Amino acid sequence: MIVVEHLSFTYPDGRVALRDVSFRVNRGETVGLVGPNGAGKSTLLWHLNGLLGVPRHQGSLAINGLPVDADHLPEIRRRVGLLFQDPDDQLFSATVREDVAFGPQQLGLSEGEVDRRVTEALAAVKLADFESRVPYHLSLGEKRRVCLAGVWACRPEVLVFDEPTANFDPRGRREFIELCRSLSATKLIASHDLEMVLALCSRVLVLDGGKRVADGEARAILGDEPLMLAHGLEKPHSLFHQHPHGVSARTASFE
Ligand code: ADP
Repeated sequence: MIVVEHLSFTYPDGRVALRDVSFRVNRGETVGLVGPNGAGKSTLLWHLNGLLGVPRHQGSLAINGLPVDADHLPEIRRRVGLLFQDPDDQLFSATVREDVAFGPQQLGLSEGEVDRRVTEALAAVKLADFESRVPYHLSLGEKRRVCLAGVWACRPEVLVFDEPTANFDPRGRREFIELCRSLSATKLIASHDLEMVLALCSRVLVLDGGKRVADGEARAILGDEPLMLAHGLEKPHSLFHQHPHGVSARTASFE
């Protein structure tokens, strides 16, 4: 579903953000993208729907066989729904309904179809009665869900999340994890919340200094303490004291 080959990118000020990154994500997979601050995670996510100006990178990207290039941007943006870390970067309308309707309207759908999609998407994120609310007045969790509804209403094949649980309280975080799990799409999730990554992702990619430094099964990668420490990360607490078969060491000692 996602094919990235030898992707390199340098910002106009000369800062190299991605260095020869290659990977593939299969349809239906949920992949975590982890790495220290400045690793290039956001830069990589933005490339997936051509946000950084397509002619400027080296290498290639494709979504479900469609190249991410200037000729295919509208179709790429329909296929890839990107959720920014800060919902205020994504919300701009006077009401929740208008915000969620914006994407489907851009797709040129009929008014009836736009209405149907808005209703469905708000129900999917459990904000069915929020249509006339003012986005600016909502809590962080509600704002993120409105953004997700806006993206979801376009029926993307790929959902891309940039730090989706940042600054959430524990309940908001748990609810978001459940919500994320309930949406069926291929997902790429960049985050420092490694427990969330562990809860949602079967596979993890590690980026550092713009390079892909590891790629593998989530528990194997996140449980590799030397690897985590070498790249400014930490092994998640839930992976300590683990019996090889998933039973905690404490429980195992009473068996
Ligand atoms: P991450 O999301 O992993 O924290 P980023 O993709 O934000 O990493 O940043 C990767 C590198 O690119 C960093 O060195 C960062 O300073 C640099 N960078 C990010 N945005 C810009 C920009 N607009 N102009 C110049 N350099 C940038």
